Amino acid sequence: MSTIDKEILNFLEANIRTIPDFPKKGIQFKDITPLLGNPEAVYHTTRLLVKPFIQQSVDYVIGLESRGFLFGPRLAMDLHAGFIPVRKPNRLPYKTVRSEYELEYGTDAVEMHADAFKSGANVIIHDDLIATGGTAGAAADLVKQLGGNVIGFSFIIELCFLHGVEKLNNIAPSHSLIKI
Ligand code: AMP
Repeated sequence: MSTIDKEILNFLEANIRTIPDFPKKGIQFKDITPLLGNPEAVYHTTRLLVKPFIQQSVDYVIGLESRGFLFGPRLAMDLHAGFIPVRKPNRLPYKTVRSEYELEYGTDAVEMHADAFKSGANVIIHDDLIATGGTAGAAADLVKQLGGNVIGFSFIIELCFLHGVEKLNNIAPSHSLIKI
């Protein structure tokens, strides 16, 4: 990565705010709303998210609810790909496929429309942040259920101490802009 891009990443990181104990005690919530409010930061975030995939043949970008919907469509547009929302249960109106994943206490699930793409499609999975990797891993399972190929994962922020990327390494490479 060039020195200029490193400086830009520092600038992006300075536009992410940490809110302690939100939404519950012990969570250091990474708030990207200051970044969204700065057009220069939005421009560079989009450009750097697109960069690792520019030479690849990408059919769809999946965005994970809800903050994966902010940059997912921009990433899709710049890669000349379609955008697919993956949502929390019972929010999509048509027939869905579902994947459950483990939380600290209990399970959660994600859903995608069953006709989102045709078997064999090349798909990127994008979210604002990877923590444990549970959500991104479950989204990859949805892609597998429909016979697609996950060719990469894309995140703005990676919480390295949770080692979420290790869960995804056997599926496809992960690209995170800011590693915390
Ligand atoms: P995980 O499945 O554990 O990787 O969690 C990732 C999802 O939870 C993403 O959709 C994030 O937006 C959200 N998330 C988890 N931890 C945080 C955090 N510390 N700050 C902001 N969002 C978070």
